[in-house]
Amino acid sequence: MSLNYDKSKAAYEAANKVIPGGVNSPVRAFRAVGDYPIFIESGQGAHVTDIDGNELIDFICSWGPLIFGHNDPVVQEAVMSAVQKGTTFGMPTEIETLMAEKIVELIPSIEKVRMVSSGTEATMSALRLARGYTGRDKIVKCGGCYHGHADHLLIQAGSGALTFGVPSSPGVPENIAHETLTATYNDIDSFKALFAEYQNEIAAVIIEPIPGNMGLILPEEGFLEALRELTKENGSLLIFDEVISGFRASLGGAQKRFGIMPDLTCLGKIIGGGLPVGAFGGRADIMDHLAPVGDVYQAGTLSGNPLAMKAGYTTLCELQKRNPYADLDARAKRLEEGLAAAADAHGVRATINQVGSLLTVFFTDRPVHTYADAQTSSVDQYRIFFQALLAEGIHLPPSQFECWFISTAHTDADIEKTIQAAEKAFAAVAKA
Ligand code: PMP
Repeated sequence: MSLNYDKSKAAYEAANKVIPGGVNSPVRAFRAVGDYPIFIESGQGAHVTDIDGNELIDFICSWGPLIFGHNDPVVQEAVMSAVQKGTTFGMPTEIETLMAEKIVELIPSIEKVRMVSSGTEATMSALRLARGYTGRDKIVKCGGCYHGHADHLLIQAGSGALTFGVPSSPGVPENIAHETLTATYNDIDSFKALFAEYQNEIAAVIIEPIPGNMGLILPEEGFLEALRELTKENGSLLIFDEVISGFRASLGGAQKRFGIMPDLTCLGKIIGGGLPVGAFGGRADIMDHLAPVGDVYQAGTLSGNPLAMKAGYTTLCELQKRNPYADLDARAKRLEEGLAAAADAHGVRATINQVGSLLTVFFTDRPVHTYADAQTSSVDQYRIFFQALLAEGIHLPPSQFECWFISTAHTDADIEKTIQAAEKAFAAVAKA
Protein backbone atom coordinates (compact mmCIF):
# COMPACT_ATOMS: atom_id res chain seq x y z
CA MET A 1 0.00 0.00 0.00
CA SER A 2 1.24 3.46 -0.76
CA LEU A 3 -1.12 6.33 -0.11
CA ASN A 4 -1.48 9.52 -2.08
CA TYR A 5 -0.98 12.82 -0.27
CA ASP A 6 -1.23 15.30 -3.18
CA LYS A 7 -3.89 17.50 -1.58
CA SER A 8 -1.87 17.81 1.63
CA LYS A 9 1.13 18.87 -0.45
CA ALA A 10 -0.91 21.57 -2.21
CA ALA A 11 -2.50 22.73 1.07
CA TYR A 12 0.95 23.10 2.60
CA GLU A 13 2.12 25.25 -0.30
CA ALA A 14 -0.89 27.53 0.19
CA ALA A 15 -0.35 27.69 3.95
CA ASN A 16 3.31 28.58 3.53
CA LYS A 17 2.38 31.79 1.74
CA VAL A 18 0.49 33.20 4.73
CA ILE A 19 1.64 31.29 7.83
CA PRO A 20 5.32 31.15 8.88
CA GLY A 21 6.48 27.68 7.91
CA GLY A 22 2.89 26.89 6.98
CA VAL A 23 1.98 25.86 10.53
CA ASN A 24 0.86 27.30 13.83
CA SER A 25 3.23 25.14 15.89
CA PRO A 26 6.65 24.10 14.52
CA VAL A 27 6.62 20.29 14.88
CA ARG A 28 3.49 20.16 12.72
CA ALA A 29 5.61 21.07 9.68
CA PHE A 30 7.09 17.53 9.71
CA ARG A 31 10.48 19.02 8.88
CA ALA A 32 12.31 16.27 10.76
CA VAL A 33 10.65 13.51 8.76
CA GLY A 34 9.64 14.84 5.38
CA ASP A 35 8.75 17.73 3.11
CA TYR A 36 5.15 18.46 4.04
CA PRO A 37 2.63 17.65 6.78
CA ILE A 38 -0.65 15.80 6.42
CA PHE A 39 -3.67 18.11 6.53
CA ILE A 40 -6.51 16.68 8.56
CA GLU A 41 -10.16 16.82 7.63
CA SER A 42 -11.71 14.96 10.59
CA GLY A 43 -11.09 12.47 13.36
CA GLN A 44 -13.08 9.59 14.77
CA GLY A 45 -11.84 7.30 17.52
CA ALA A 46 -8.19 6.37 16.88
CA HIS A 47 -8.38 7.41 13.25
CA VAL A 48 -8.01 10.67 11.35
CA THR A 49 -9.11 11.27 7.80
CA ASP A 50 -6.89 13.59 5.82
CA ILE A 51 -7.91 15.92 3.01
CA ASP A 52 -6.86 13.34 0.39
CA GLY A 53 -9.40 10.96 1.91
CA ASN A 54 -6.82 8.65 3.52
CA GLU A 55 -7.83 7.15 6.85
CA LEU A 56 -4.84 6.95 9.17
CA ILE A 57 -4.31 5.32 12.55
CA ASP A 58 -3.30 8.29 14.69
CA PHE A 59 -0.64 8.04 17.38
CA ILE A 60 -0.36 11.81 17.79
CA CYS A 61 -3.87 12.22 19.21
CA SER A 62 -3.36 16.00 19.30
CA TRP A 63 -0.18 15.47 21.39
CA GLY A 64 -2.01 14.10 24.38
CA PRO A 65 -5.40 15.64 25.06
CA LEU A 66 -7.40 12.90 23.36
CA ILE A 67 -7.16 10.03 25.83
CA PHE A 68 -10.52 8.78 24.52
CA GLY A 69 -9.49 9.34 20.90
CA HIS A 70 -11.13 11.76 18.48
CA ASN A 71 -14.69 12.93 18.90
CA ASP A 72 -15.65 10.87 21.92
CA PRO A 73 -19.47 10.94 21.85
CA VAL A 74 -19.89 11.83 25.54
CA VAL A 75 -17.40 14.71 25.39
CA GLN A 76 -18.83 15.89 22.08
CA GLU A 77 -22.35 15.95 23.50
CA ALA A 78 -21.16 17.90 26.57
CA VAL A 79 -19.55 20.57 24.38
CA MET A 80 -22.62 20.80 22.13
CA SER A 81 -24.86 21.39 25.13
CA ALA A 82 -22.48 24.03 26.53
CA VAL A 83 -22.44 25.90 23.20
CA GLN A 84 -26.19 26.42 23.45
CA LYS A 85 -25.69 28.66 26.50
CA GLY A 86 -22.98 30.89 25.03
CA THR A 87 -19.30 30.50 24.39
CA THR A 88 -17.68 32.87 26.89
CA PHE A 89 -18.78 35.33 29.56
CA GLY A 90 -15.64 36.57 31.28
CA MET A 91 -17.62 36.14 34.49
CA PRO A 92 -17.63 33.26 36.98
CA THR A 93 -19.59 30.11 36.10
CA GLU A 94 -20.34 27.14 38.35
CA ILE A 95 -18.65 24.69 36.01
CA GLU A 96 -15.32 26.32 36.97
CA THR A 97 -15.87 25.31 40.60
CA LEU A 98 -16.94 21.81 39.60
CA MET A 99 -13.78 21.53 37.53
CA ALA A 100 -11.58 22.80 40.37
CA GLU A 101 -13.27 20.42 42.85
CA LYS A 102 -12.65 17.50 40.49
CA ILE A 103 -8.97 18.38 40.04
CA VAL A 104 -8.54 18.80 43.81
CA GLU A 105 -10.24 15.43 44.34
CA LEU A 106 -8.05 13.61 41.83
CA ILE A 107 -4.57 15.17 42.01
CA PRO A 108 -3.11 14.40 45.45
CA SER A 109 -1.06 17.57 46.02
CA ILE A 110 -3.54 20.13 44.68
CA GLU A 111 -5.60 22.01 47.27
CA LYS A 112 -6.41 25.01 45.09
CA VAL A 113 -6.16 25.41 41.35
CA ARG A 114 -6.39 28.17 38.77
CA MET A 115 -7.36 27.62 35.14
CA VAL A 116 -5.49 29.12 32.19
CA SER A 117 -5.68 28.45 28.44
CA SER A 118 -2.49 26.51 27.65
CA GLY A 119 0.31 24.50 29.19
CA THR A 120 2.68 27.38 28.50
CA GLU A 121 0.56 29.72 30.58
CA ALA A 122 0.38 27.12 33.35
CA THR A 123 4.16 26.75 33.71
CA MET A 124 4.83 30.45 33.23
CA SER A 125 2.30 31.36 35.92
CA ALA A 126 3.45 28.64 38.33
CA LEU A 127 7.01 29.95 38.11
CA ARG A 128 5.95 33.55 38.69
CA LEU A 129 4.05 32.35 41.73
CA ALA A 130 7.06 30.34 42.97
CA ARG A 131 9.26 33.40 42.58
CA GLY A 132 6.73 35.68 44.27
CA TYR A 133 6.24 33.21 47.11
CA THR A 134 9.92 32.51 47.80
CA GLY A 135 11.30 35.96 46.96
CA ARG A 136 13.98 34.21 44.86
CA ASP A 137 14.64 34.56 41.13
CA LYS A 138 16.49 31.49 39.91
CA ILE A 139 14.79 28.39 38.60
CA VAL A 140 16.13 24.97 37.68
CA LYS A 141 14.97 22.89 34.73
CA CYS A 142 16.34 19.78 33.04
CA GLY A 143 18.02 19.77 29.66
CA GLY A 144 15.62 18.15 27.19
CA CYS A 145 12.48 18.85 29.22
CA TYR A 146 9.93 21.12 27.57
CA HIS A 147 7.63 23.34 29.56
CA GLY A 148 6.12 25.53 26.87
CA HIS A 149 7.66 28.53 25.16
CA ALA A 150 7.89 31.23 27.85
CA ASP A 151 11.25 33.06 27.75
CA HIS A 152 12.83 31.57 30.85
CA LEU A 153 11.80 28.02 29.86
CA LEU A 154 13.24 27.98 26.35
CA ILE A 155 16.62 26.99 27.68
CA GLN A 156 17.87 23.55 26.62
CA ALA A 157 14.25 22.86 25.78
CA GLY A 158 12.88 19.62 24.38
CA SER A 159 10.08 18.91 21.89
CA GLY A 160 10.07 21.08 18.75
CA ALA A 161 12.93 23.18 20.12
CA LEU A 162 15.05 20.03 20.29
CA THR A 163 13.81 18.72 16.94
CA PHE A 164 14.76 21.95 15.20
CA GLY A 165 18.06 22.39 17.00
CA VAL A 166 17.12 25.65 18.70
CA PRO A 167 16.79 24.52 22.30
CA SER A 168 17.66 28.04 23.42
CA SER A 169 15.86 30.50 21.20
CA PRO A 170 17.04 33.87 19.89
CA GLY A 171 14.78 36.53 21.34
CA VAL A 172 15.21 35.37 24.92
CA PRO A 173 17.10 38.19 26.68
CA GLU A 174 20.38 37.16 28.26
CA ASN A 175 19.39 38.48 31.67
CA ILE A 176 16.29 36.26 31.66
CA ALA A 177 18.15 33.18 30.43
CA HIS A 178 20.69 33.83 33.17
CA GLU A 179 18.09 33.08 35.85
CA THR A 180 17.45 29.59 34.47
CA LEU A 181 19.85 26.88 35.58
CA THR A 182 19.88 23.49 33.92
CA ALA A 183 20.39 20.09 35.47
CA THR A 184 20.31 16.54 34.16
CA TYR A 185 17.22 14.39 34.48
CA ASN A 186 17.92 11.19 36.49
CA ASP A 187 21.14 12.69 37.88
CA ILE A 188 20.47 13.98 41.39
CA ASP A 189 24.08 15.08 41.77
CA SER A 190 23.62 17.64 39.02
CA PHE A 191 20.85 19.22 41.14
CA LYS A 192 22.90 19.01 44.33
CA ALA A 193 25.74 20.89 42.63
CA LEU A 194 23.37 23.73 41.65
CA PHE A 195 21.89 23.99 45.13
CA ALA A 196 25.41 24.09 46.59
CA GLU A 197 26.45 26.88 44.22
CA TYR A 198 23.29 28.96 44.44
CA GLN A 199 22.30 28.65 48.09
CA ASN A 200 19.06 30.51 48.92
CA GLU A 201 18.71 31.74 45.33
CA ILE A 202 16.64 28.99 43.73
CA ALA A 203 12.89 29.61 43.78
CA ALA A 204 11.89 26.32 42.23
CA VAL A 205 12.77 23.21 40.32
CA ILE A 206 10.36 22.55 37.47
CA ILE A 207 10.40 19.05 36.03
CA GLU A 208 8.35 16.67 33.92
CA PRO A 209 8.11 13.76 36.38
CA ILE A 210 7.90 11.51 33.30
CA PRO A 211 9.69 13.45 30.54
CA GLY A 212 7.92 13.14 27.20
CA ASN A 213 9.63 15.83 25.18
CA MET A 214 13.01 14.22 24.49
CA GLY A 215 11.12 11.08 23.68
CA LEU A 216 9.77 9.17 26.65
CA ILE A 217 12.09 8.75 29.62
CA LEU A 218 11.28 7.12 32.94
CA PRO A 219 12.46 8.25 36.37
CA GLU A 220 15.03 5.96 37.93
CA GLU A 221 14.30 4.48 41.33
CA GLY A 222 14.62 7.15 44.03
CA PHE A 223 15.37 10.09 41.71
CA LEU A 224 12.12 12.01 42.18
CA GLU A 225 12.08 11.20 45.91
CA ALA A 226 15.60 12.62 46.26
CA LEU A 227 14.58 15.74 44.37
CA ARG A 228 11.62 16.19 46.70
CA GLU A 229 13.94 16.04 49.71
CA LEU A 230 16.56 18.31 48.18
CA THR A 231 14.10 21.07 47.26
CA LYS A 232 12.51 20.91 50.70
CA GLU A 233 15.88 21.15 52.47
CA ASN A 234 16.74 24.22 50.42
CA GLY A 235 13.43 26.07 50.80
CA SER A 236 12.72 25.76 47.06
CA LEU A 237 9.45 24.67 45.55
CA LEU A 238 9.13 21.49 43.54
CA ILE A 239 6.92 21.99 40.50
CA PHE A 240 5.73 18.94 38.60
CA ASP A 241 4.86 19.74 35.01
CA GLU A 242 2.17 17.14 34.47
CA VAL A 243 0.85 18.66 31.25
CA ILE A 244 1.42 15.26 29.60
CA SER A 245 1.39 12.88 32.58
CA GLY A 246 -1.63 14.39 34.38
CA PHE A 247 -4.59 11.97 34.15
CA ARG A 248 -2.46 9.77 31.88
CA ALA A 249 0.25 8.21 34.09
CA SER A 250 -2.69 7.45 36.39
CA LEU A 251 -5.93 9.19 37.29
CA GLY A 252 -3.89 11.19 39.81
CA GLY A 253 -0.99 11.75 37.42
CA ALA A 254 2.64 10.79 37.91
CA GLN A 255 2.57 12.10 41.49
CA LYS A 256 -0.05 9.51 42.43
CA ARG A 257 1.71 6.77 40.49
CA PHE A 258 5.00 7.43 42.28
CA GLY A 259 3.62 8.70 45.61
CA ILE A 260 5.39 12.07 45.60
CA MET A 261 3.83 15.37 46.61
CA PRO A 262 5.13 18.39 44.67
CA ASP A 263 4.35 21.90 45.93
CA LEU A 264 2.81 23.01 42.64
CA THR A 265 1.55 21.09 39.62
CA CYS A 266 1.00 22.25 36.04
CA LEU A 267 -1.72 20.61 33.98
CA GLY A 268 -2.97 20.85 30.38
CA LYS A 269 -3.92 18.61 27.47
CA ILE A 270 -6.33 15.99 28.95
CA ILE A 271 -7.98 18.47 31.35
CA GLY A 272 -9.25 20.39 28.33
CA GLY A 273 -10.86 17.36 26.70
CA GLY A 274 -9.55 18.65 23.35
CA LEU A 275 -10.22 22.35 23.93
CA PRO A 276 -7.53 24.90 24.84
CA VAL A 277 -6.85 24.60 28.58
CA GLY A 278 -4.09 24.63 31.15
CA ALA A 279 -4.11 24.83 34.93
CA PHE A 280 -1.74 25.20 37.83
CA GLY A 281 -2.44 24.31 41.40
CA GLY A 282 -0.96 23.12 44.64
CA ARG A 283 -0.68 23.96 48.31
CA ALA A 284 -3.36 26.45 49.35
CA ASP A 285 -0.88 28.61 51.29
CA ILE A 286 1.13 29.08 48.10
CA MET A 287 -1.83 29.47 45.74
CA ASP A 288 -3.28 32.20 47.98
CA HIS A 289 -0.39 34.43 46.98
CA LEU A 290 -2.19 34.92 43.66
CA ALA A 291 -4.24 38.06 42.97
CA PRO A 292 -6.85 39.02 44.05
CA VAL A 293 -6.04 37.59 47.52
CA GLY A 294 -2.29 37.88 47.12
CA ASP A 295 -0.07 40.16 45.10
CA VAL A 296 1.27 37.81 42.40
CA TYR A 297 -0.60 38.86 39.28
CA GLN A 298 -2.02 36.41 36.78
CA ALA A 299 -5.13 36.67 34.61
CA GLY A 300 -6.87 35.60 31.39
CA THR A 301 -9.84 36.77 29.28
CA LEU A 302 -10.74 33.20 28.33
CA SER A 303 -9.49 31.47 31.51
CA GLY A 304 -12.09 28.99 32.73
CA ASN A 305 -13.86 29.20 29.39
CA PRO A 306 -17.22 27.41 29.74
CA LEU A 307 -16.82 25.20 26.67
CA ALA A 308 -13.33 24.12 27.69
CA MET A 309 -14.50 23.53 31.28
CA LYS A 310 -17.39 21.39 30.09
CA ALA A 311 -15.17 19.32 27.80
CA GLY A 312 -12.51 18.94 30.49
CA TYR A 313 -14.84 18.24 33.39
CA THR A 314 -16.70 15.64 31.34
CA THR A 315 -13.41 14.01 30.37
CA LEU A 316 -12.26 13.78 33.99
CA CYS A 317 -15.62 12.36 35.13
CA GLU A 318 -15.51 9.83 32.30
CA LEU A 319 -11.96 8.83 33.20
CA GLN A 320 -13.11 8.21 36.75
CA LYS A 321 -16.06 6.17 35.50
CA ARG A 322 -14.31 4.20 32.75
CA ASN A 323 -11.01 3.73 34.63
CA PRO A 324 -9.14 2.82 31.44
CA TYR A 325 -5.61 2.76 32.83
CA ALA A 326 -4.95 -0.99 33.11
CA ASP A 327 -6.40 -1.48 29.65
CA LEU A 328 -4.33 1.32 28.11
CA ASP A 329 -1.19 -0.04 29.73
CA ALA A 330 -1.87 -3.54 28.40
CA ARG A 331 -2.46 -2.25 24.89
CA ALA A 332 0.68 -0.11 24.93
CA LYS A 333 2.68 -3.09 26.24
CA ARG A 334 1.39 -5.27 23.43
CA LEU A 335 2.46 -2.57 20.96
CA GLU A 336 5.86 -2.29 22.61
CA GLU A 337 6.42 -6.06 22.49
CA GLY A 338 5.30 -6.27 18.88
CA LEU A 339 7.53 -3.39 17.82
CA ALA A 340 10.51 -4.80 19.72
CA ALA A 341 10.07 -8.20 18.06
CA ALA A 342 9.75 -6.59 14.62
CA ALA A 343 12.92 -4.52 15.17
CA ASP A 344 14.75 -7.63 16.34
CA ALA A 345 13.58 -9.67 13.38
CA HIS A 346 15.21 -7.16 11.04
CA GLY A 347 18.33 -6.61 13.12
CA VAL A 348 17.47 -2.95 13.83
CA ARG A 349 18.79 -1.65 17.13
CA ALA A 350 15.98 0.09 18.91
CA THR A 351 15.16 0.88 22.53
CA ILE A 352 11.50 1.22 23.33
CA ASN A 353 10.45 3.12 26.44
CA GLN A 354 6.86 2.70 27.53
CA VAL A 355 4.79 3.69 30.52
CA GLY A 356 1.01 3.66 30.64
CA SER A 357 -0.27 4.88 27.28
CA LEU A 358 3.00 6.60 26.30
CA LEU A 359 5.73 5.08 24.17
CA THR A 360 8.84 6.08 22.20
CA VAL A 361 10.92 3.98 19.81
CA PHE A 362 14.50 5.28 20.02
CA PHE A 363 16.81 4.23 17.20
CA THR A 364 19.80 3.58 19.41
CA ASP A 365 21.51 0.53 20.84
CA ARG A 366 21.70 1.81 24.38
CA PRO A 367 19.11 2.08 27.14
CA VAL A 368 17.64 5.59 27.23
CA HIS A 369 17.63 7.06 30.74
CA THR A 370 18.90 10.58 30.03
CA TYR A 371 18.85 13.41 27.51
CA ALA A 372 22.34 12.37 26.36
CA ASP A 373 21.12 8.79 25.78
CA ALA A 374 18.15 10.10 23.76
CA GLN A 375 20.47 12.19 21.64
CA THR A 376 22.36 9.09 20.48
CA SER A 377 19.24 8.09 18.48
CA SER A 378 19.40 8.13 14.73
CA VAL A 379 17.01 10.76 13.42
CA ASP A 380 17.71 9.44 9.92
CA GLN A 381 16.46 6.00 10.82
CA TYR A 382 13.44 7.53 12.51
CA ARG A 383 12.65 9.44 9.30
CA ILE A 384 12.73 6.24 7.24
CA PHE A 385 10.60 4.44 9.81
CA PHE A 386 8.11 7.30 9.95
CA GLN A 387 7.73 7.51 6.16
CA ALA A 388 7.38 3.74 5.76
CA LEU A 389 4.58 3.71 8.33
CA LEU A 390 2.87 6.72 6.80
CA ALA A 391 2.79 4.91 3.47
CA GLU A 392 0.87 2.18 5.31
CA GLY A 393 -1.58 4.65 6.84
CA ILE A 394 -0.04 4.89 10.31
CA HIS A 395 0.50 8.41 11.61
CA LEU A 396 3.37 8.72 14.11
CA PRO A 397 4.65 11.85 15.83
CA PRO A 398 6.85 13.58 13.24
CA SER A 399 9.97 13.56 15.40
CA GLN A 400 12.21 11.10 17.22
CA PHE A 401 11.93 13.24 20.34
CA GLU A 402 8.23 12.92 21.05
CA CYS A 403 5.88 10.33 22.57
CA TRP A 404 3.34 8.21 20.80
CA PHE A 405 -0.05 8.68 22.43
CA ILE A 406 -2.33 5.67 22.74
CA SER A 407 -6.02 6.23 23.40
CA THR A 408 -8.87 4.06 24.60
CA ALA A 409 -10.12 4.17 21.01
CA HIS A 410 -7.09 2.26 19.69
CA THR A 411 -8.47 -1.23 19.19
CA ASP A 412 -6.55 -4.49 19.24
CA ALA A 413 -6.93 -4.46 15.45
CA ASP A 414 -5.29 -1.00 15.26
CA ILE A 415 -2.38 -2.24 17.36
CA GLU A 416 -1.94 -5.41 15.30
CA LYS A 417 -2.11 -3.46 12.05
CA THR A 418 0.54 -1.08 13.36
CA ILE A 419 2.83 -3.96 14.34
CA GLN A 420 2.43 -5.55 10.89
CA ALA A 421 3.19 -2.26 9.18
CA ALA A 422 6.18 -1.77 11.50
CA GLU A 423 7.61 -5.08 10.21
CA LYS A 424 7.90 -3.44 6.79
CA ALA A 425 9.14 -0.18 8.26
CA PHE A 426 11.95 -1.86 10.23
CA ALA A 427 12.84 -3.79 7.08
CA ALA A 428 13.13 -0.45 5.26
CA VAL A 429 15.38 0.90 8.04
CA ALA A 430 17.57 -2.21 7.88
CA LYS A 431 17.92 -1.88 4.13
CA ALA A 432 18.84 1.81 4.12
N1 PMP B 1 4.64 21.18 29.44
C1 PMP B 1 4.75 20.00 28.83
C2 PMP B 1 5.31 18.84 29.59
C3 PMP B 1 4.36 19.85 27.50
O1 PMP B 1 4.50 18.66 26.89
C4 PMP B 1 3.83 20.98 26.82
C5 PMP B 1 3.39 20.89 25.36
N2 PMP B 1 3.58 19.76 24.69
C6 PMP B 1 3.73 22.18 27.51
C7 PMP B 1 4.13 22.26 28.81
C8 PMP B 1 3.19 23.40 26.83
O2 PMP B 1 1.83 23.27 26.63
P1 PMP B 1 1.09 24.12 25.48
O3 PMP B 1 1.61 23.61 24.19
O4 PMP B 1 -0.36 23.84 25.73
O5 PMP B 1 1.45 25.55 25.72
